[in-house]
Amino acid sequence: MKLKYYGTAAAEGVPALYCSCDVCKYSTKAGGKNIRTRSQALIDDRLLIDMPPDTLYHFQHLGLPLNDIEHVLITHKHPDHLHPPTLNVRCKGFVMHEIPPINIYGSMPSIDLIFDELRKSGVLERGHWNLFELAPYKSIEINGYTVTPYKANHAFETYPYIYDISDGEKRMLYGHDTGTFLNETWEYIEKNKPHFNLVSLDCTMGIASSSGHHHMNVDNCIQAKMRLIELGCADSSTVFVLHHFSHNGNVSYDDLLPIAEKEGFLVSYDGMEIEF
Ligand SMILES: [Zn+2]
Ligand SMILES: [Zn+2]
Ligand SMILES: [Zn+2]
Repeated sequence: MKLKYYGTAAAEGVPALYCSCDVCKYSTKAGGKNIRTRSQALIDDRLLIDMPPDTLYHFQHLGLPLNDIEHVLITHKHPDHLHPPTLNVRCKGFVMHEIPPINIYGSMPSIDLIFDELRKSGVLERGHWNLFELAPYKSIEINGYTVTPYKANHAFETYPYIYDISDGEKRMLYGHDTGTFLNETWEYIEKNKPHFNLVSLDCTMGIASSSGHHHMNVDNCIQAKMRLIELGCADSSTVFVLHHFSHNGNVSYDDLLPIAEKEGFLVSYDGMEIEF
């Protein structure tokens, strides 16, 4: 499988809109991998995860093959992960030619938000959107992948999911946004013993302290990694990635990299591609 990260930040981006804290000042000056847009990832060029406001930037500047994508998983409805105006323009009038239907999958609040926004914008009849509600811990086949949503420890009113995705040979866990995994998620993992070849963990809180609710920091990610290995759900060949960052985590890409490498993690950056 191939995973490409197009955006790697939390809601406010890095450097953050309107902010001149040390991390934002450093990131602006250093540039390169320190500059992060809102999180979006693509599997094998055909299964997209999330639709942030920076989708346009990823399409125009980072080569996101948006015109070829027919399946989109939504983690939850926070606006850095689901930006309805980006979907509303996928219809006749905005697009100058015929386009195939797009299939969008997520929890009920995400699906409701998309439906409401399409209706309010008056475009519901002008495009072809198939919206699918996913149930937690129930696997579904999507375009050759087996996708299993796990409940996330995040804003519960959004019914957030992290995703276990397998192509039949390789398997990955996309863990954003979430704090330390819920007991019921660990119970599912312990019972079903998935073996992951790649695990992408939420590191929004970086090297700052974290209660482990809503988001994780580096220490929380190390604990999750150890537990997955202890359970036999990962091993020394598993690729572990820290991803989804905020200036609240008090660390730039450059400063996090040596800390992460010492603990056996890659650090995501906009445009990073991993084959596993
Ligand atoms: Zn987020
Ligand atoms: Zn800042
Ligand atoms: Zn969120």
